Amino acid sequence: RAKETGKARCVVYSPLRSGPPEYDISLEAAMFQAVREGEFQLYYQPIVDTRTRQIQGFETLMRWKHPTLGMVPPVRFIPIAETNGLINLLGAWALKAACVQLKCFEEAARRSLYVSVNISPRQFRNDKFLDVLDDALAYSGLRGEQLVLEITEGTLMIDPAHAETILARMAERKARIAIDDFGTGYSSLAYLKRFPISVLKIDRAFIKDLPESLKDGAICNAVLDLARHLGLSVVAEGVETEPQLAFLEQRGCDYIQGYLTGKPMTSHVAMAALKEDKYATLQPTDRRADTP
Ligand code: C2E
Ligand code: MG
Ligand code: MG
Ligand code: MG
Repeated sequence: RAKETGKARCVVYSPLRSGPPEYDISLEAAMFQAVREGEFQLYYQPIVDTRTRQIQGFETLMRWKHPTLGMVPPVRFIPIAETNGLINLLGAWALKAACVQLKCFEEAARRSLYVSVNISPRQFRNDKFLDVLDDALAYSGLRGEQLVLEITEGTLMIDPAHAETILARMAERKARIAIDDFGTGYSSLAYLKRFPISVLKIDRAFIKDLPESLKDGAICNAVLDLARHLGLSVVAEGVETEPQLAFLEQRGCDYIQGYLTGKPMTSHVAMAALKEDKYATLQPTDRRADTP
């Protein structure tokens, strides 16, 4: 990548940094430039009701289109933004943009939808986070219940007492909390009792080998049972095949998200999918070739 840009790639390791040991300085510099140039964009991935096959909402996924590096994946730039604090700026922009876009999606669909936005640990801990949330809701006119905030188990566990306060404030606004990548963290199930959580997102790691893997099948069954008894809804992440969908549907999984029903797409493409009510009308065989 250094050769592509013609710049020296400087990688430093400092024990004072909380970020990953390999910190890409040139990418960090490019990120500040990217903010000024408006190179960041939001993509939208449909979250589909397993029974009706209708789009119920979208998860927003950030994209960075660099003029020479091309698409820089979030796994590369989010950790940098998390380390240098740029995530607060990017995250505030994403939250507001997502809420505004959802209003447009609703006009196209002529029904109520929701939007699910990823919140990183640093954003969640930021003093201004609730102000950012209020601003996004007020500016867009979105109701709190139309907003889902995706956090990981790790985010809750860094400072559980603080998390409790923030989640209570979110609940006052009716915004819902989803646990992203559920089952991959190091936390105990006790947090499901302690915190006001509404949605569990089963990580793709447990979905990808379905329906053949008996272990993954058992884990998905257990999560679905747990969610049912706790009154939580479940989204299965990374659903790519019809047999995976069939397995999840049969076991009462409410929602799926994955390449089968749509890759992350631009707002323009998402709008078209909504107008056609795409997944509700297509046959299973058609849906397979459906990703944009
Ligand atoms: P995530 O929130 O767990 O997002 C799901 C990831 O799985 C996305 O990767 C999505 O493109 C991918 N995915 C969805 N369906 C499938 C499938 O069927 N098969 C496969 N193989 N992958 C699928 P993406 O967009 O590269 O994002 C990676 C991670 O970066 C996200 O994981 C999230 O943790 C983070 N991220 C993305 N956008 C944002 C953002 O706006 N803010 C924050 N804080 N983090 C973000
Ligand atoms: Mg997510
Ligand atoms: Mg996830
Ligand atoms: Mg994941």
